[in-house]
Amino acid sequence: MMRIGYGYDVHQLKEGEELWLGGIQVPHEKGAVGHSDADVVLHVICDALLGALALRDIGYHFPDTDPAYKGIDSKKLLVETYRLITDAGWELGNVDCTLCLQRPKVLPYIEEMRACIAGVMGVDVGQVSVKATTTEQLGFVGTEEGVSAHAVVLLQRAS
Ligand code: MG
Repeated sequence: MMRIGYGYDVHQLKEGEELWLGGIQVPHEKGAVGHSDADVVLHVICDALLGALALRDIGYHFPDTDPAYKGIDSKKLLVETYRLITDAGWELGNVDCTLCLQRPKVLPYIEEMRACIAGVMGVDVGQVSVKATTTEQLGFVGTEEGVSAHAVVLLQRAS
């Protein structure tokens, strides 16, 4: 038996903020705005995991009105989210993410992100795919007003 889940997220980019992507801090003059560390990649993985088991969404579990989550490292959110999945008797088959960002080039950080995500979830790095694309200067990603990401996960019954 398998379950599929999908996640989508957007964060605004602003000067003077830190840019966290896939658990890695990427040097850039702009960073992502959010209540937590605004790591769009980790957020879409959380949402895809929750979606796979119809467990609502990241905002439901970690409300941005709760001061406990102010500036929180999203790796902690992913740990807690994946615990919900494993507690329910499921495990990750694989996750596939696409990060949409005009600048900076994130290619040098992709392998580090995959290793970080796999480490946080306690899965094999081969189960974690992170891809990146620009939007060819189009839309809010293209004008560097924001960053977005998509993720799909497949869960299987824990062996
Ligand atoms: Mg988010």
